[in-house]
Amino acid sequence: MDRRNWLKVLASAPLAGIAGSWPAIAKGERTVEELQNNWKSLLAEGADVANSSEPLKLADAEWRKRLSPAAYDVLRREGTERSGTSPLDREKRPGVFVCAGCRLPLFTSAMKFDSGTGWPSFFTTIPGAVGTSRDFKLILPRTEYHCARCGGHQGHVFDDGPAPTGLRYCNNGVALAFIPKTG
Ligand SMILES: [Zn+2]
Repeated sequence: MDRRNWLKVLASAPLAGIAGSWPAIAKGERTVEELQNNWKSLLAEGADVANSSEPLKLADAEWRKRLSPAAYDVLRREGTERSGTSPLDREKRPGVFVCAGCRLPLFTSAMKFDSGTGWPSFFTTIPGAVGTSRDFKLILPRTEYHCARCGGHQGHVFDDGPAPTGLRYCNNGVALAFIPKTG
């Protein structure tokens, strides 16, 4: 997102976020930029992650082989998991969330908040980790986002998240894998 769009998002953010507990960032402990730049401080030593967002392109049959049916449906078919079904919605340990398709780190635990929606929710991402597109599946257009490396669909981003970004990345838990900082 360029700076102009970013400011537009901030300006359009509602005064109060949606229900749920507030992330550390809301208490003014750290800035979003710090959380983004220091994301590796939450990465477990020797963790199996993709180290670059260099595109990973595989044939559909190969994705089918690699992924569970539920992960395939979300990542490769833009499906949506049932709310409240992912254990990652309740995951509160320090660590990093990677794409279930290609292991690219997308979010850290410090970027997560409890949105009360039943889907893991984040107010920002690791820099450059996701790309976005418009989605017209429902009547109102939504902003779809996906892994920058494998293109796997992750979820939708809304502008009713908590301060200071005002963003809510509503993620399918089955499209993520969690790596706790200490194992
Ligand atoms: Zn990926």
